[in-house]
Amino acid sequence: MAKLYFRYGAMNSGKSTALLQAAYNYEERGQTVLLAKPEIDTKEADRISSRLGVTRPVDFLVRPEDDIRAIFAQHRARVHAEAESTLVPENRDVACLMIDEAQFLTREQVDDLLRIVVLDGVPVLAYGIRTDFQTHAFPGSRRLMELAHSLEELKTICRCGRKALFNARLVGGRFVFNGDQVAIDELSSERVTYESMCAECYLRESGGLLG
Ligand SMILES: [Zn+2]
Repeated sequence: MAKLYFRYGAMNSGKSTALLQAAYNYEERGQTVLLAKPEIDTKEADRISSRLGVTRPVDFLVRPEDDIRAIFAQHRARVHAEAESTLVPENRDVACLMIDEAQFLTREQVDDLLRIVVLDGVPVLAYGIRTDFQTHAFPGSRRLMELAHSLEELKTICRCGRKALFNARLVGGRFVFNGDQVAIDELSSERVTYESMCAECYLRESGGLLG
């Protein structure tokens, strides 16, 4: 039985590294995986990059208006066609669809991920950030929390040593607690960065605000 997996965490919890490692594990066994990510993430355009230095291109980007199940079906057909000469029949199909930055998918696209898993029979591993800088769930993450067969938290540490839960935003090195859910770096004159924080440190910096 294929399953929908959501592996979530704060920023810098190694999600892209975990995704690339999982892809490698499949491919080491001769299996084919498809990699995708939402187009809204402009940091690395069409690549998935680990902070450890590993990087590779995605098979396709997903725009908010895209029918992700139809795009997946096209790529699956291509894999079938290319794998006709494969000696092992079970390696002729897509073993897994992997999505990075899944928090930026729309609710409808996450619904389609469940259809890909259940109706099309292909496991989906989605990796993403649970909440935005104001502690609210991203639309894609909320729907994944609702639908996934399996939820797995990827952990990272706050500056105080506790487990980080939230992602505090800094603009030009100063904490900000108001603004758009997605801050595009280039639109701001000052650099936007994030710090993964535990609840205690977040509330201390925000003066008790939770967005
Ligand atoms: Zn802390």
